[in-house]
Amino acid sequence: MLLEVQELSISIGKEEAVRSSSFSVPDTGITALIGESGSGKSLTALAISSLLPPGATWRGRILFDGRPVDESLRGKGISYVFQDAASALNPVYTLEKQLKRIDRNVDAERMLRAFGLEGAGDLYPFQLSGGMQIRSELMLSSALSPRLLIADEITAALDGKTAAAIMDILSSLSRRGTAILLITHDIGIARAYADRIAVMHAGETVEEGDAGEVLSSPLHPYTKALLTCADMEKGKDGLFRTIEPAMPAIGERPEGCTYSKRCPHPCTETARWIGNASHRARCCHPSKY
Ligand code: SF4
Repeated sequence: MLLEVQELSISIGKEEAVRSSSFSVPDTGITALIGESGSGKSLTALAISSLLPPGATWRGRILFDGRPVDESLRGKGISYVFQDAASALNPVYTLEKQLKRIDRNVDAERMLRAFGLEGAGDLYPFQLSGGMQIRSELMLSSALSPRLLIADEITAALDGKTAAAIMDILSSLSRRGTAILLITHDIGIARAYADRIAVMHAGETVEEGDAGEVLSSPLHPYTKALLTCADMEKGKDGLFRTIEPAMPAIGERPEGCTYSKRCPHPCTETARWIGNASHRARCCHPSKY
């Protein structure tokens, strides 16, 4: 595995936002980290990239190619693409200038063409559409051919056609050897593009495995519920199915199992991993569902 996250906990002040989270990312392909907003996906990705905000601390192990992550990995090792591309781009330089500042020998024309930005080299970020800003951020993040590219909800604000074009760029990067960690709450995107899936609930990973297995035979009741919601299934009352009650807030998570208050058949045991490397879930009774 290229990236191993083991028992990762992240605290902001006194609050533990991510708790004992574990998952891995292979050397190739697209790994989707999915879950509701507020489940800790972005915070986890920031810790992997050594980009946690001031005041946040973490413990556990994050291994990249077998060694602990640190800031020296940024660029050629791990690259991060933020959802808010407008803020991530430097407003005072044209696209071509920004590329040259990363690598002065880069073939800017080729890079611009590869990311669908022909003719945009002389433009400033404010002159670009939302889709072009994301393409630009992807291009700059890929300039040093990172081994792992983390894309954090980059399609969330885009229309379907633009989102598909952006995902095609990620797929193409993946085919050329960059492993992708895709942070998303869009199950449809994960279904269409992911090779591997990890699921987060209330600051913990609760399932991970090959995408085909997780999607066709989910083990954890939370994953099943997420997929049901994404399918827009209706219950007997004719209303669309949701997951009730709401995800517990930081500081209000139940002990033992963070899903116990939402679980259709709750137990009183401490949730533990069951399964194998290709598909496992943190639930004591996965076969019940
Ligand atoms: S069966 Fe128990 S461990 Fe599994 S999700 Fe429900 S409460 Fe948690």
